[in-house]
Amino acid sequence: MTAIETGLQDLKRQHPEWEPWLAVVQEVLRETANPQWDAAVPHRTTQQDKTPLLAGASLALEQNSVRRLLQLVIQAACRSGTAKMATLEPALRVELDVLTLFKATLRQDGNYLEQTATAVGAEPEAFQAVAALIPVPFLQACNRHWKPTIAASWLEGYCPVCGSWPAFTEVRGIERQRYFRCGRCGGEWRAHCLFCAFCGMNDHEQLVSLVPEKSGAGRMIEACKRCLGYVKTFTTLEGSAPAKVILDDLASVDLDVAAVEQGYKRPQGTGYALDITIIGNGATQFSEAGKP
Ligand SMILES: [Zn+2]
Ligand SMILES: [Zn+2]
Repeated sequence: MTAIETGLQDLKRQHPEWEPWLAVVQEVLRETANPQWDAAVPHRTTQQDKTPLLAGASLALEQNSVRRLLQLVIQAACRSGTAKMATLEPALRVELDVLTLFKATLRQDGNYLEQTATAVGAEPEAFQAVAALIPVPFLQACNRHWKPTIAASWLEGYCPVCGSWPAFTEVRGIERQRYFRCGRCGGEWRAHCLFCAFCGMNDHEQLVSLVPEKSGAGRMIEACKRCLGYVKTFTTLEGSAPAKVILDDLASVDLDVAAVEQGYKRPQGTGYALDITIIGNGATQFSEAGKP
């Protein structure tokens, strides 16, 4: 059994009530092995300062591949039997502009996703949760291809591959080297101590570590009193496989609950406003200028 299958089984055993959502996640993680997404990764050889490798990309995507993945994921969500997930069913029947939708999921454009959900009559929160998983197979392929290109000097709080905020920090091995992990592309990058990923705060009096009582050894929350952002931190021997980051993130939801109870939050959207052009397999082109 792979680490992913074991991780999914463990989560199903520990949280039987999550089964519907894990079925959706499982569908997406299975798709990360599809080489079709590797073929869509643009060529990259160098990384500019502060700019994620995905920024400015021109993507040639098969409309049918995106539609197929969207349908797979929505079908898995509808099969789950929860009332909220069942509201996604009409999205299978309407003719969605899947390439624009895909771009919105890459850019984590919450407004676009909410409007689309409302237009098809789906429950917005459920639609956004499912839509957030759609670009994962493509982003994981980007991370596989671009890993050697990531600038060694990268010190931003957001992912050098896809611009997302970190899902958590790993403190690895006896050297206790710190790495941020991305819950979307599965990427990793060095994290410095005493630094808020979200606002850059480095005054140690503004940065707090919280260890929830029942949390167990090697798990904590590192939070910033200025911007109220937080990152979960795990001590581990070695880093998780890229596709397992989503599962590690889910498995530690008790820490998210504890952080929210203390008034902290995970910022919405990406850490870097991505400008992306998507060229469909027809001649249709969808383009939008990036915001600073
Ligand atoms: Zn990433
Ligand atoms: Zn901060």
